[in-house]
Amino acid sequence: MRIARFTTGEDPVFGLVDGAGEKIAEITGDPLYTKIELTGATHLVEDVRLLAPVIPRSKVIGIGKNYADHAKEMGGEAPAEPLMFLIPNTAVVGPGEPVVLTSLTSEVHYEGELAVVIGRLCKDIEPEEVSKVVFGYTCADDVTARDLQRGDGQWARAKGMDTFCPIGPWIETDLDPSALSIRTRRDGELVQDGTTADMVHDVATLVSHASKAFTLLPGDVILTGTPAGVGPVEGGQRVEVEIEGIGTLSNPFVRR
Ligand code: MG
Repeated sequence: MRIARFTTGEDPVFGLVDGAGEKIAEITGDPLYTKIELTGATHLVEDVRLLAPVIPRSKVIGIGKNYADHAKEMGGEAPAEPLMFLIPNTAVVGPGEPVVLTSLTSEVHYEGELAVVIGRLCKDIEPEEVSKVVFGYTCADDVTARDLQRGDGQWARAKGMDTFCPIGPWIETDLDPSALSIRTRRDGELVQDGTTADMVHDVATLVSHASKAFTLLPGDVILTGTPAGVGPVEGGQRVEVEIEGIGTLSNPFVRR
């Protein structure tokens, strides 16, 4: 299933998107917490505004340097253990929403990533149990202020500023994440072209590792790292993250 959150001008609701990504069938509640029941209302995707498919209640967990080629382009090696950081939920925006670049930074990079959405409360789980707690997958752009990342000594501002965590366009619940093509385009130019098969630590390992440190709650999001090819993005440009089996997340960047 593809689960989207959207608005037609009223309060946000959830819906199931068809395979072509053209139609949405509205459902009654939040599918993270309630059984999926159709309301009978349907819309064309082009007639609604898609929103972030989930607003994490507690946290977005980021993973740094989880593709060897990206670790290399950043001037290092992939860490032996997954390197985790936290992004506040106020950084999350949906498809089509602008990423706002402020005067705090003059060097911002895109990072196309596969995002895991947690479906069940869990703690201390082993990799073999991870499929039971994953709700689904979506696309993410782990937008990063490289100047702040270098200067601050930790990554809270660099990756956690408002609008720096676009996710969407929807959550795909039926997906094997082990070998998916992941591509990023900046103003239409292909700038990242990787596969999730090249992750240093796979999804099961990452979720298990995170759960050893943090209780994971329904709606928590784990970003799984970016392939090689990160680079700058300026106000006025648009970044698209396309993942096989999910779809394309597209966001304009604006400078204020
Ligand atoms: Mg990243």
